[in-house]
Amino acid sequence: MEPSDGLRAVADRCAARIDRERLTATLSELISLPSVNPFGGELGDGQGELLVARYLDDRLGRLGWDGDVVEYAPGRYNAVARLAGGGGQVLMLAGHLDTVETTGYPEPFAGAVRGGRVYGRGACDMKAALACYVEAAEVLAAEAVELPGDLVVAGVGDEEYRQEGAKALGLRADGVIIGEPTELVICHATKGLAAYDLTVTGEATHSSVPQHGSNAILGAAALLGSFGEYVRLLERRGHPLLGPPTANVGVIEGGVKPNIVPSSCTVQLSRRLLPGETAAGAREELVGVLAGAGGSARWSLGDSWWTVEPYELPAGHPLGGVVAVAAELSGLADTVPRGFPGSSDAAYFGSPVVLFGPGSLAQAHSLDEWVPVEEMVTATEVYLRSALAFGG
Ligand SMILES: [Zn+2]
Repeated sequence: MEPSDGLRAVADRCAARIDRERLTATLSELISLPSVNPFGGELGDGQGELLVARYLDDRLGRLGWDGDVVEYAPGRYNAVARLAGGGGQVLMLAGHLDTVETTGYPEPFAGAVRGGRVYGRGACDMKAALACYVEAAEVLAAEAVELPGDLVVAGVGDEEYRQEGAKALGLRADGVIIGEPTELVICHATKGLAAYDLTVTGEATHSSVPQHGSNAILGAAALLGSFGEYVRLLERRGHPLLGPPTANVGVIEGGVKPNIVPSSCTVQLSRRLLPGETAAGAREELVGVLAGAGGSARWSLGDSWWTVEPYELPAGHPLGGVVAVAAELSGLADTVPRGFPGSSDAAYFGSPVVLFGPGSLAQAHSLDEWVPVEEMVTATEVYLRSALAFGG
């Protein structure tokens, strides 16, 4: 749907008002607020989603947004802020407040700006998008724009681990844009994830008489012999936006000493899930593959202990068209919907979602994370144009 001439003029004025310096400074400030996900452990000293939640609440509050910082679990936070619009459909700009860890990362929180990029942990994944949301709010305030419907900014915790922030949000919107680092590609689907423990049990004995025991590590090796065939089986499947699912052998642990036949071996496996697949279904399939490997080892495969649901925008949903037109008007040549290869919290918003944001997964989670400022400017423009057009 093409925007009307009046709307187009307002959007063009808003786009021209995006302040690159302010946007860059906002991201540097966000990076300086450490919010490393504790992954089930203790929060680091002076760390936490609260710092970022308060920052968003403060910046948007000063612009007249109605905001709230919510403790969804002890020490863990979401931030929600709303700009009241004209009663039309509600658009949410969502992003996670947490980052992955910083072990081995020199100066992760400096937020340095060099050569048109901003550097630091969380730069692209995904404090850049949070900075873009704040910049969009600055522009809307400066232009005193009334949007067709409410615009919500939601900063959620725990995306990198169990997505508890998005699960606890309890707030629905008619459309959600999540600014994960898609390199400004519009993504209508994300893969999910399931992780399983394969436990192989043997019988310990003196290594000089191995025939009296049963070697759990060799048992695991025999079972994993079927893995290559499993991967090839998965490669024959495909999703139009996401391609085939994948599987990984991530961790193997077993044995005590070289002179003892090991009695146990544990293997951590993971499987990327396509929309329509479930962790339970993928487990059943894996059990079948392992059972087909033969061998005499005793083994069991547990239920998934780490599940991230896959997500796909319903075909033809108007949110997809709104973001595509906004991207085109912002100068992007390629607005064809694709799939986001990583997992995300998209499935837990209970609302239609498009993923679109600055930066690349190639830098996310790396020890040299950065985002191009130019992409942030374009993303801000796309968010603004989407907010002006959605539900109007
Ligand atoms: Zn992310």
